[in-house]
Amino acid sequence: MSPAGDDITGSFAAALADARDALVDLRKPPHDLDSQMVNSRRLMRWLHDRSWTTRGWPTSAGGTGGSSADRGRIYDRLVADGYSIPDHLFVLEVVGPAVVNHAPELARRFLPRALTGEELWSQGFSEPEAGSDLASLRTRAVESEGGYVINGQKVWTSYGARADKIVLLARTGTTESRHRGLTMFLVDLDQVGVERRPIALASGREELAEIFFTDVRVDSDRIIGEVGGGWAVAMDLLQYERGIYAWMRMATTTAHLRQIVRRSSKEQGASPTADRVVGRAYLHLAALRARTFSTLGKLARGETAGPETSIDKVLLATAEQSVLDAARELIGAQFVIGDDPEDVHWREEWWYSRAASVYGGAGEIQRTIIADRLLGLPKEHDNGR
Ligand SMILES: Cc1cc2nc3c(=O)[nH]c(=O)nc-3n(C[C@H](O)[C@H](O)[C@H](O)COP(=O)(O)OP(=O)(O)OC[C@H]3O[C@@H](n4cnc5c(N)ncnc54)[C@H](O)[C@@H]3O)c2cc1C
Repeated sequence: MSPAGDDITGSFAAALADARDALVDLRKPPHDLDSQMVNSRRLMRWLHDRSWTTRGWPTSAGGTGGSSADRGRIYDRLVADGYSIPDHLFVLEVVGPAVVNHAPELARRFLPRALTGEELWSQGFSEPEAGSDLASLRTRAVESEGGYVINGQKVWTSYGARADKIVLLARTGTTESRHRGLTMFLVDLDQVGVERRPIALASGREELAEIFFTDVRVDSDRIIGEVGGGWAVAMDLLQYERGIYAWMRMATTTAHLRQIVRRSSKEQGASPTADRVVGRAYLHLAALRARTFSTLGKLARGETAGPETSIDKVLLATAEQSVLDAARELIGAQFVIGDDPEDVHWREEWWYSRAASVYGGAGEIQRTIIADRLLGLPKEHDNGR
Protein backbone atom coordinates (compact mmCIF):
# COMPACT_ATOMS: atom_id res chain seq x y z
CA MET A 1 0.00 0.00 0.00
CA SER A 2 1.21 3.51 -0.80
CA PRO A 3 2.39 5.88 1.97
CA ALA A 4 -0.63 8.10 1.17
CA GLY A 5 -2.86 5.09 1.76
CA ASP A 6 -1.19 4.36 5.08
CA ASP A 7 -1.70 7.99 6.09
CA ILE A 8 -5.41 7.74 5.43
CA THR A 9 -5.79 4.42 7.22
CA GLY A 10 -3.80 5.72 10.21
CA SER A 11 -5.59 9.04 10.56
CA PHE A 12 -8.99 7.45 10.05
CA ALA A 13 -8.22 4.77 12.66
CA ALA A 14 -7.23 7.55 15.09
CA ALA A 15 -10.48 9.46 14.41
CA LEU A 16 -12.51 6.29 15.03
CA ALA A 17 -10.61 5.58 18.24
CA ASP A 18 -11.43 9.09 19.52
CA ALA A 19 -15.13 8.53 18.77
CA ARG A 20 -15.38 5.03 20.24
CA ASP A 21 -17.63 6.02 23.16
CA ALA A 22 -19.72 8.53 21.22
CA LEU A 23 -20.53 5.99 18.51
CA VAL A 24 -20.85 2.89 20.71
CA ASP A 25 -24.50 2.18 19.80
CA LEU A 26 -23.65 2.16 16.09
CA ARG A 27 -21.58 -0.98 16.64
CA LYS A 28 -24.61 -3.04 17.74
CA PRO A 29 -26.85 -4.82 15.21
CA PRO A 30 -29.93 -2.65 14.51
CA HIS A 31 -33.42 -4.01 15.36
CA ASP A 32 -35.01 -3.35 12.01
CA LEU A 33 -34.55 -1.56 8.72
CA ASP A 34 -35.88 1.74 10.11
CA SER A 35 -33.28 1.86 12.87
CA GLN A 36 -30.62 0.67 10.42
CA MET A 37 -31.39 3.64 8.16
CA VAL A 38 -31.30 6.03 11.14
CA ASN A 39 -27.88 4.60 12.06
CA SER A 40 -26.75 4.90 8.46
CA ARG A 41 -27.69 8.60 8.32
CA ARG A 42 -26.02 9.27 11.67
CA LEU A 43 -22.77 7.62 10.64
CA MET A 44 -22.88 9.40 7.27
CA ARG A 45 -23.21 12.73 9.07
CA TRP A 46 -20.36 11.91 11.45
CA LEU A 47 -18.11 10.80 8.58
CA HIS A 48 -19.06 13.76 6.41
CA ASP A 49 -18.49 16.35 9.15
CA ARG A 50 -14.91 15.07 9.32
CA SER A 51 -14.53 14.95 5.52
CA TRP A 52 -14.28 11.16 5.31
CA THR A 53 -17.19 10.55 2.91
CA THR A 54 -15.77 13.15 0.52
CA ARG A 55 -12.34 11.45 0.29
CA GLY A 56 -11.66 9.85 -3.06
CA TRP A 57 -14.37 11.82 -4.90
CA PRO A 58 -13.31 14.62 -7.30
CA THR A 59 -13.40 18.21 -6.04
CA SER A 60 -15.61 19.08 -9.04
CA ALA A 61 -18.32 16.86 -7.49
CA GLY A 62 -18.04 18.12 -3.91
CA GLY A 63 -15.29 15.71 -2.97
CA THR A 64 -11.87 16.41 -1.49
CA GLY A 65 -9.91 14.54 -4.19
CA GLY A 66 -7.79 11.40 -4.09
CA SER A 67 -8.63 8.05 -5.64
CA SER A 68 -11.39 5.51 -5.12
CA ALA A 69 -8.76 3.28 -3.44
CA ASP A 70 -8.84 5.82 -0.56
CA ARG A 71 -12.52 5.06 -0.13
CA GLY A 72 -11.71 1.34 -0.09
CA ARG A 73 -9.21 1.92 2.73
CA ILE A 74 -11.77 3.88 4.74
CA TYR A 75 -14.44 1.16 4.38
CA ASP A 76 -11.93 -1.52 5.35
CA ARG A 77 -11.04 0.29 8.57
CA LEU A 78 -14.65 1.12 9.38
CA VAL A 79 -15.79 -2.51 9.38
CA ALA A 80 -12.61 -3.68 11.12
CA ASP A 81 -13.62 -1.38 14.00
CA GLY A 82 -17.05 -3.01 14.25
CA TYR A 83 -19.24 -0.55 12.29
CA SER A 84 -21.49 -1.34 9.36
CA ILE A 85 -20.74 0.60 6.20
CA PRO A 86 -23.67 3.07 5.94
CA ASP A 87 -26.45 1.80 3.66
CA HIS A 88 -26.35 5.17 1.91
CA LEU A 89 -22.90 4.36 0.53
CA PHE A 90 -23.60 0.94 -0.98
CA VAL A 91 -25.75 2.08 -3.91
CA LEU A 92 -23.85 5.35 -4.17
CA GLU A 93 -20.64 3.40 -4.83
CA VAL A 94 -22.42 1.54 -7.65
CA VAL A 95 -24.06 4.50 -9.41
CA GLY A 96 -21.99 7.52 -8.25
CA PRO A 97 -18.82 6.92 -10.31
CA ALA A 98 -20.90 6.58 -13.51
CA VAL A 99 -22.59 9.94 -12.78
CA VAL A 100 -19.16 11.51 -12.18
CA ASN A 101 -17.75 9.99 -15.40
CA HIS A 102 -20.69 10.62 -17.73
CA ALA A 103 -22.54 13.63 -16.25
CA PRO A 104 -20.03 15.81 -14.34
CA GLU A 105 -22.52 18.70 -14.13
CA LEU A 106 -25.13 16.44 -12.46
CA ALA A 107 -22.43 15.15 -10.11
CA ARG A 108 -21.53 18.73 -9.19
CA ARG A 109 -25.18 19.59 -8.48
CA PHE A 110 -26.33 16.46 -6.69
CA LEU A 111 -23.50 14.27 -5.41
CA PRO A 112 -22.71 16.52 -2.39
CA ARG A 113 -26.16 15.83 -0.90
CA ALA A 114 -25.65 12.09 -1.31
CA LEU A 115 -22.25 12.35 0.40
CA THR A 116 -23.76 13.98 3.49
CA GLY A 117 -26.44 11.26 3.72
CA GLU A 118 -29.23 13.82 3.17
CA GLU A 119 -30.15 11.90 0.00
CA LEU A 120 -30.35 8.17 -0.66
CA TRP A 121 -29.78 7.05 -4.26
CA SER A 122 -30.96 3.90 -5.98
CA GLN A 123 -30.32 1.93 -9.18
CA GLY A 124 -33.24 1.32 -11.55
CA PHE A 125 -32.18 -1.27 -14.11
CA SER A 126 -34.14 -4.52 -13.57
CA GLU A 127 -37.72 -4.99 -14.75
CA PRO A 128 -40.12 -7.93 -14.47
CA GLU A 129 -39.10 -9.32 -17.88
CA ALA A 130 -35.64 -7.81 -18.00
CA GLY A 131 -33.09 -8.91 -15.43
CA SER A 132 -30.37 -11.03 -17.00
CA ASP A 133 -31.59 -9.85 -20.41
CA LEU A 134 -31.36 -6.19 -19.47
CA ALA A 135 -31.34 -4.99 -23.09
CA SER A 136 -34.99 -6.06 -23.42
CA LEU A 137 -36.21 -3.50 -20.85
CA ARG A 138 -39.47 -1.73 -21.65
CA THR A 139 -39.69 1.35 -19.44
CA ARG A 140 -40.06 4.16 -21.98
CA ALA A 141 -38.82 7.74 -21.96
CA VAL A 142 -40.49 9.81 -24.68
CA GLU A 143 -39.17 13.27 -25.59
CA SER A 144 -41.58 16.11 -24.81
CA GLU A 145 -41.19 19.88 -24.35
CA GLY A 146 -37.50 20.05 -23.44
CA GLY A 147 -37.56 16.90 -21.38
CA TYR A 148 -38.79 13.31 -21.30
CA VAL A 149 -41.90 11.57 -19.98
CA ILE A 150 -41.31 8.19 -18.36
CA ASN A 151 -43.75 5.28 -18.21
CA GLY A 152 -42.99 1.76 -17.01
CA GLN A 153 -41.94 -0.35 -14.06
CA LYS A 154 -38.72 -1.25 -12.26
CA VAL A 155 -38.36 -4.11 -9.81
CA TRP A 156 -35.93 -5.37 -7.12
CA THR A 157 -34.73 -1.79 -6.54
CA SER A 158 -32.55 -1.81 -3.42
CA TYR A 159 -33.80 0.87 -0.96
CA GLY A 160 -36.38 1.75 -3.64
CA ALA A 161 -39.16 2.54 -1.17
CA ARG A 162 -37.00 5.11 0.63
CA ALA A 163 -34.67 6.48 -2.02
CA ASP A 164 -34.73 10.14 -3.07
CA LYS A 165 -33.22 9.61 -6.51
CA ILE A 166 -32.88 6.78 -8.99
CA VAL A 167 -30.34 6.24 -11.75
CA LEU A 168 -32.79 4.90 -14.29
CA LEU A 169 -32.18 3.06 -17.55
CA ALA A 170 -35.05 3.64 -19.97
CA ARG A 171 -35.85 3.01 -23.62
CA THR A 172 -35.71 6.09 -25.84
CA GLY A 173 -35.41 4.13 -29.09
CA THR A 174 -37.65 1.53 -30.72
CA THR A 175 -38.49 -1.77 -28.97
CA GLU A 176 -36.28 -3.58 -31.47
CA SER A 177 -33.33 -1.24 -30.84
CA ARG A 178 -32.28 -3.43 -27.85
CA HIS A 179 -29.15 -2.00 -26.16
CA ARG A 180 -28.72 0.76 -28.79
CA GLY A 181 -31.98 2.49 -27.83
CA LEU A 182 -31.41 3.05 -24.11
CA THR A 183 -30.71 6.24 -22.15
CA MET A 184 -29.71 6.76 -18.52
CA PHE A 185 -31.43 9.40 -16.38
CA LEU A 186 -31.13 10.74 -12.84
CA VAL A 187 -34.76 10.93 -11.68
CA ASP A 188 -36.29 12.42 -8.51
CA LEU A 189 -38.54 9.87 -6.84
CA ASP A 190 -40.57 12.33 -4.75
CA GLN A 191 -42.83 13.41 -7.59
CA VAL A 192 -46.34 12.79 -8.87
CA GLY A 193 -46.58 9.63 -10.97
CA VAL A 194 -44.07 7.61 -8.93
CA GLU A 195 -45.61 4.74 -6.97
CA ARG A 196 -43.49 2.41 -4.85
CA ARG A 197 -44.36 -0.95 -3.39
CA PRO A 198 -41.89 -2.48 -0.94
CA ILE A 199 -40.77 -6.07 -1.50
CA ALA A 200 -39.78 -8.11 1.54
CA LEU A 201 -36.57 -10.12 1.36
CA ALA A 202 -36.68 -13.74 2.55
CA SER A 203 -35.68 -12.44 5.99
CA GLY A 204 -38.77 -10.21 6.06
CA ARG A 205 -36.86 -6.93 5.65
CA GLU A 206 -38.57 -4.67 3.15
CA GLU A 207 -35.32 -3.54 1.59
CA LEU A 208 -36.29 -3.86 -2.07
CA ALA A 209 -39.16 -2.28 -3.98
CA GLU A 210 -40.98 -2.21 -7.25
CA ILE A 211 -41.39 1.29 -8.65
CA PHE A 212 -44.07 2.30 -11.13
CA PHE A 213 -43.67 5.38 -13.33
CA THR A 214 -46.79 6.98 -14.82
CA ASP A 215 -46.14 10.09 -16.94
CA VAL A 216 -43.17 11.09 -14.80
CA ARG A 217 -41.34 14.12 -16.20
CA VAL A 218 -37.59 14.44 -16.26
CA ASP A 219 -35.66 17.38 -17.71
CA SER A 220 -33.14 16.83 -20.50
CA ASP A 221 -30.33 18.06 -18.25
CA ARG A 222 -30.86 14.93 -16.13
CA ILE A 223 -29.46 12.62 -18.84
CA ILE A 224 -26.34 10.70 -17.82
CA GLY A 225 -24.16 10.33 -20.93
CA GLU A 226 -25.69 10.53 -24.40
CA VAL A 227 -29.25 9.95 -25.62
CA GLY A 228 -29.13 6.35 -26.85
CA GLY A 229 -25.84 5.85 -25.00
CA GLY A 230 -27.32 4.34 -21.82
CA TRP A 231 -25.87 0.90 -22.44
CA ALA A 232 -22.29 2.23 -22.40
CA VAL A 233 -23.02 4.02 -19.10
CA ALA A 234 -24.58 0.84 -17.67
CA MET A 235 -21.52 -1.23 -18.65
CA ASP A 236 -19.20 1.36 -17.10
CA LEU A 237 -21.32 1.34 -13.95
CA LEU A 238 -21.21 -2.45 -13.67
CA GLN A 239 -17.42 -2.27 -13.30
CA TYR A 240 -17.88 -0.31 -10.08
CA GLU A 241 -20.46 -2.78 -8.85
CA ARG A 242 -17.69 -5.38 -9.23
CA GLY A 243 -14.96 -3.01 -8.01
CA ILE A 244 -15.52 -0.83 -4.98
CA TYR A 245 -18.98 -2.23 -4.16
CA ALA A 246 -17.52 -5.75 -4.15
CA TRP A 247 -14.70 -4.45 -1.95
CA MET A 248 -17.26 -3.11 0.55
CA ARG A 249 -19.04 -6.44 0.66
CA MET A 250 -15.71 -8.26 0.98
CA ALA A 251 -14.72 -6.03 3.91
CA THR A 252 -18.11 -6.62 5.55
CA THR A 253 -17.84 -10.38 5.01
CA THR A 254 -14.32 -10.40 6.48
CA ALA A 255 -15.69 -8.70 9.59
CA HIS A 256 -18.46 -11.31 9.71
CA LEU A 257 -15.92 -14.13 9.71
CA ARG A 258 -13.98 -12.47 12.52
CA GLN A 259 -17.15 -12.12 14.59
CA ILE A 260 -18.13 -15.74 14.00
CA VAL A 261 -14.68 -17.00 15.03
CA ARG A 262 -14.84 -14.88 18.19
CA ARG A 263 -18.30 -16.11 19.09
CA SER A 264 -17.64 -19.75 18.37
CA SER A 265 -14.34 -19.88 20.25
CA LYS A 266 -16.04 -18.23 23.25
CA GLU A 267 -19.00 -20.62 23.20
CA GLN A 268 -17.36 -23.88 22.10
CA GLY A 269 -13.59 -23.43 22.32
CA ALA A 270 -11.37 -24.97 19.62
CA SER A 271 -12.87 -27.75 17.49
CA PRO A 272 -11.97 -29.56 14.25
CA THR A 273 -15.36 -28.57 12.80
CA ALA A 274 -14.63 -24.89 13.46
CA ASP A 275 -11.17 -25.24 11.89
CA ARG A 276 -12.67 -26.86 8.79
CA VAL A 277 -15.54 -24.44 8.12
CA VAL A 278 -13.57 -21.33 9.06
CA GLY A 279 -10.59 -22.47 6.99
CA ARG A 280 -12.78 -23.06 3.95
CA ALA A 281 -14.52 -19.69 4.30
CA TYR A 282 -11.19 -17.92 4.83
CA LEU A 283 -9.76 -19.36 1.61
CA HIS A 284 -12.73 -18.09 -0.39
CA LEU A 285 -12.37 -14.69 1.24
CA ALA A 286 -8.64 -14.50 0.60
CA ALA A 287 -9.19 -15.26 -3.11
CA LEU A 288 -11.90 -12.59 -3.28
CA ARG A 289 -9.76 -10.00 -1.49
CA ALA A 290 -6.78 -10.54 -3.80
CA ARG A 291 -8.97 -10.36 -6.87
CA THR A 292 -11.00 -7.32 -5.79
CA PHE A 293 -7.82 -5.52 -4.68
CA SER A 294 -6.53 -5.82 -8.23
CA THR A 295 -9.83 -4.64 -9.79
CA LEU A 296 -10.07 -1.72 -7.37
CA GLY A 297 -6.50 -0.72 -8.30
CA LYS A 298 -7.29 -0.85 -12.04
CA LEU A 299 -10.36 1.35 -11.64
CA ALA A 300 -8.51 3.77 -9.35
CA ARG A 301 -5.85 4.16 -12.09
CA GLY A 302 -8.59 4.92 -14.63
CA GLU A 303 -8.17 1.59 -16.46
CA THR A 304 -11.07 -0.50 -17.75
CA ALA A 305 -11.82 -3.68 -15.84
CA GLY A 306 -14.06 -5.31 -18.50
CA PRO A 307 -15.56 -8.82 -18.61
CA GLU A 308 -12.85 -10.13 -16.23
CA THR A 309 -14.97 -8.68 -13.43
CA SER A 310 -17.39 -11.60 -13.91
CA ILE A 311 -14.73 -13.62 -12.05
CA ASP A 312 -14.93 -11.10 -9.19
CA LYS A 313 -18.71 -11.51 -9.04
CA VAL A 314 -18.49 -15.32 -8.87
CA LEU A 315 -15.82 -15.10 -6.13
CA LEU A 316 -17.92 -12.57 -4.20
CA ALA A 317 -20.99 -14.82 -4.15
CA THR A 318 -18.90 -17.87 -3.21
CA ALA A 319 -17.14 -16.08 -0.34
CA GLU A 320 -20.29 -14.48 1.10
CA GLN A 321 -22.18 -17.75 1.03
CA SER A 322 -19.28 -19.71 2.45
CA VAL A 323 -18.80 -17.29 5.38
CA LEU A 324 -22.50 -17.20 6.25
CA ASP A 325 -22.70 -21.00 5.94
CA ALA A 326 -19.86 -21.10 8.48
CA ALA A 327 -21.97 -18.88 10.77
CA ARG A 328 -24.93 -21.22 10.43
CA GLU A 329 -22.81 -24.28 11.14
CA LEU A 330 -20.97 -22.82 14.13
CA ILE A 331 -23.82 -20.97 15.82
CA GLY A 332 -25.95 -24.13 15.64
CA ALA A 333 -29.50 -24.18 17.05
CA GLN A 334 -29.42 -20.52 18.11
CA PHE A 335 -28.93 -19.61 14.47
CA VAL A 336 -32.30 -21.18 13.64
CA ILE A 337 -34.41 -20.34 16.70
CA GLY A 338 -32.53 -17.61 18.61
CA ASP A 339 -34.44 -14.36 18.89
CA ASP A 340 -31.91 -11.98 20.38
CA PRO A 341 -30.82 -9.23 17.94
CA GLU A 342 -27.50 -10.93 17.20
CA ASP A 343 -29.12 -14.23 16.17
CA VAL A 344 -31.71 -12.39 14.09
CA HIS A 345 -28.86 -10.44 12.48
CA TRP A 346 -27.01 -13.64 11.52
CA ARG A 347 -30.16 -15.15 9.98
CA GLU A 348 -30.79 -11.99 7.97
CA GLU A 349 -27.20 -11.93 6.76
CA TRP A 350 -27.40 -15.61 5.79
CA TRP A 351 -30.55 -15.01 3.76
CA TYR A 352 -28.96 -11.99 2.07
CA SER A 353 -25.88 -14.04 1.19
CA ARG A 354 -28.15 -16.32 -0.90
CA ALA A 355 -28.93 -13.28 -3.06
CA ALA A 356 -25.22 -12.72 -3.74
CA SER A 357 -25.40 -15.13 -6.69
CA VAL A 358 -28.33 -13.14 -8.13
CA TYR A 359 -27.87 -9.37 -7.54
CA GLY A 360 -25.56 -7.49 -9.89
CA GLY A 361 -25.78 -10.32 -12.44
CA ALA A 362 -26.75 -13.93 -11.78
CA GLY A 363 -24.11 -16.64 -11.37
CA GLU A 364 -25.05 -18.54 -14.54
CA ILE A 365 -24.67 -15.36 -16.60
CA GLN A 366 -21.25 -14.63 -15.08
CA ARG A 367 -20.07 -18.16 -15.81
CA THR A 368 -21.32 -17.86 -19.39
CA ILE A 369 -19.36 -14.60 -19.82
CA ILE A 370 -16.24 -16.29 -18.39
CA ALA A 371 -16.70 -19.28 -20.71
CA ASP A 372 -17.49 -17.24 -23.86
CA ARG A 373 -15.46 -14.07 -23.55
CA LEU A 374 -12.51 -15.00 -21.36
CA LEU A 375 -11.93 -18.69 -22.09
CA GLY A 376 -13.37 -18.82 -25.61
CA LEU A 377 -15.05 -22.17 -24.90
CA PRO A 378 -17.42 -23.57 -27.55
CA LYS A 379 -21.12 -22.76 -27.08
CA GLU A 380 -23.21 -25.47 -25.43
CA HIS A 381 -25.32 -25.96 -28.56
CA ASP A 382 -22.14 -26.46 -30.64
CA ASN A 383 -21.93 -29.94 -29.07
CA GLY A 384 -18.18 -29.62 -29.26
CA ARG A 385 -18.21 -29.37 -33.05
C1 LIG B 1 -30.91 -8.52 -3.11
C2 LIG B 1 -31.07 -8.00 -4.50
C3 LIG B 1 -30.88 -6.65 -4.75
C4 LIG B 1 -31.09 -6.15 -6.04
N1 LIG B 1 -30.96 -4.80 -6.24
C5 LIG B 1 -31.19 -4.27 -7.48
C6 LIG B 1 -31.14 -2.87 -7.70
O1 LIG B 1 -30.89 -2.08 -6.78
N2 LIG B 1 -31.40 -2.41 -8.94
C7 LIG B 1 -31.69 -3.24 -9.98
O2 LIG B 1 -31.88 -2.75 -11.09
N3 LIG B 1 -31.77 -4.58 -9.80
C8 LIG B 1 -31.53 -5.12 -8.58
N4 LIG B 1 -31.62 -6.48 -8.38
C9 LIG B 1 -32.04 -7.33 -9.47
C10 LIG B 1 -30.92 -8.18 -10.07
O3 LIG B 1 -30.04 -7.40 -10.83
C11 LIG B 1 -31.59 -9.27 -10.91
O4 LIG B 1 -32.31 -10.09 -9.99
C12 LIG B 1 -30.60 -10.11 -11.68
O5 LIG B 1 -30.01 -9.37 -12.71
C13 LIG B 1 -31.29 -11.37 -12.29
O6 LIG B 1 -32.41 -11.01 -13.02
P1 LIG B 1 -33.85 -11.67 -12.75
O7 LIG B 1 -34.12 -11.59 -11.29
O8 LIG B 1 -34.82 -11.05 -13.67
O9 LIG B 1 -33.65 -13.20 -13.09
P2 LIG B 1 -33.73 -13.88 -14.53
O10 LIG B 1 -32.93 -13.07 -15.50
O11 LIG B 1 -35.15 -14.17 -14.85
O12 LIG B 1 -32.96 -15.22 -14.23
C14 LIG B 1 -33.56 -16.29 -13.50
C15 LIG B 1 -32.57 -17.44 -13.47
O13 LIG B 1 -32.33 -17.89 -14.81
C16 LIG B 1 -30.96 -17.84 -15.12
N5 LIG B 1 -30.77 -17.40 -16.51
C17 LIG B 1 -31.35 -16.35 -17.12
N6 LIG B 1 -30.91 -16.23 -18.39
C18 LIG B 1 -30.00 -17.22 -18.57
C19 LIG B 1 -29.17 -17.61 -19.66
N7 LIG B 1 -29.19 -16.95 -20.82
N8 LIG B 1 -28.36 -18.69 -19.48
C20 LIG B 1 -28.32 -19.37 -18.31
N9 LIG B 1 -29.08 -19.03 -17.22
C21 LIG B 1 -29.91 -17.98 -17.36
C22 LIG B 1 -30.36 -16.82 -14.17
O14 LIG B 1 -28.98 -17.05 -13.96
C23 LIG B 1 -31.19 -17.04 -12.92
O15 LIG B 1 -30.66 -18.11 -12.19
C24 LIG B 1 -31.43 -7.01 -7.10
C25 LIG B 1 -31.58 -8.38 -6.85
C26 LIG B 1 -31.42 -8.87 -5.57
C27 LIG B 1 -31.62 -10.34 -5.34
